[in-house]
Amino acid sequence: MQKDDDFRFEKLDCPRCKSKKMIRFAWESEAELECTECGERFDEKDLLTIDDPSNILTVKEKLAFIRAFKESD
Ligand SMILES: [Zn+2]
Repeated sequence: MQKDDDFRFEKLDCPRCKSKKMIRFAWESEAELECTECGERFDEKDLLTIDDPSNILTVKEKLAFIRAFKESD
């Protein structure tokens, strides 16, 4: 893990409960943050690029959205 990642990570808090206790899970090209307070997971990308927390979907919500979209095909 690189230093600048740690720095960005410290600025992030949970969009739902505002907790700062986020656990970071990183893969090769992406990362998710799991909130230890409410248990929701978020794409790190979303937290870094979306300013309004109410516009940020949890990973679960995104998967449900994608599934609904595919089924309507
Ligand atoms: Zn939370």
